[in-house]
Amino acid sequence: MENQTPRLELTNVHKSFAKKPVVQGVSIELARGEIGCLLGPSGCGKTTLLRIIAGFEPIDGGQVILNGNCISSASILVPAEKRKLGMVFQDYALFPHLSVFENIAFGLGAQSRREQEKRVMELLEMVKLETAVRAYPHELSGGQQQRVALARALAPEPALLLLDEPFSNLDASLRDTLTVEVRDIIKATATTALMVTHNQFEAFSVADTIGVTFSGTIRQWDSAYNVYHHPADLEVATFVGDGAVIKGEVSGPDTLMCGLGELRGSFTLPCAKGCQVNLLVRPEDVLHDDSSPVQARIVHKSFRGPNILYKLELPSAETCLALVSSHHDHQLGERIGIVPDVENLVLFPA
Ligand code: ATP
Repeated sequence: MENQTPRLELTNVHKSFAKKPVVQGVSIELARGEIGCLLGPSGCGKTTLLRIIAGFEPIDGGQVILNGNCISSASILVPAEKRKLGMVFQDYALFPHLSVFENIAFGLGAQSRREQEKRVMELLEMVKLETAVRAYPHELSGGQQQRVALARALAPEPALLLLDEPFSNLDASLRDTLTVEVRDIIKATATTALMVTHNQFEAFSVADTIGVTFSGTIRQWDSAYNVYHHPADLEVATFVGDGAVIKGEVSGPDTLMCGLGELRGSFTLPCAKGCQVNLLVRPEDVLHDDSSPVQARIVHKSFRGPNILYKLELPSAETCLALVSSHHDHQLGERIGIVPDVENLVLFPA
């Protein structure tokens, strides 16, 4: 089936700059219509990976395959303009002297004027900017310019759409709506896409599959749900989402002793009795319960409207976070009872 055939496939890709490895053995696949996202801290190599796929950087080893054709290897570098890619950049990169119509029609040179008009209007309707067809980029807001940039990139029906930090220049509220719109538009056009961001919420809103990237390697290539709830290792766990890591010891066949008390649940213990573990405790898994024997002291609080994020000091002197309904408005220094939601704890061998 076509949907199952990978459109983009990277196999064991390596790249160094002046002998410094920046991409180290990256292997990922995107199926037709799938949206992937490389998520990682600054300097982890995600932009370099995007530039490799775009054809701006040669590679030292491995292969990049697009629609079954090798476009990059140690001996092959298909030029960027022959790769049939669409690109969306952080700074929109629209042609300032061209109107919205002309910007979007730019890549449609081979088509008749009539076909171009039809395609541009189709895309403008999709990005909800029909009325801006004659406007120039400087007359548009940042969000509108990014929509035009997306329409321009999609116009020639690219084999792959690459998006480099596309929401970084937008304010937070606009970002929330635009991420959802961008995903909907990419899905509506069944375009295969790869985005780069250091912002996990953008990755969660846009991607089908997230590649958590550290030091030039992809640690986990997985759904947002799995990256958050089943992180591959402790570094992924602490990079993605809020949470605390506390120490514990396996105290029986199905029990664990830690700063939250003795826990028994359906969690999978990573080792036998007596061994040390690290527990990832997400704020939403620490429940406020006055009757709990585990009392924790509030050392910080952050009001977030519907809830309050409390930073709590446990009897073990470790800290954890608890997301509690804001109706439970406690003071700094107060002690509150807490119970962990044991079904969702994530454990790693220490
Ligand atoms: P950011 O989010 O800050 O852009 P990134 O994850 O996208 O970071 P890259 O831009 O891919 O990271 O950079 C990875 C590493 O490669 C960095 O240490 C960077 O300094 C280095 N690097 C990138 N491009 C070059 C280059 N052309 N020459 C030398 N070193 C480079």
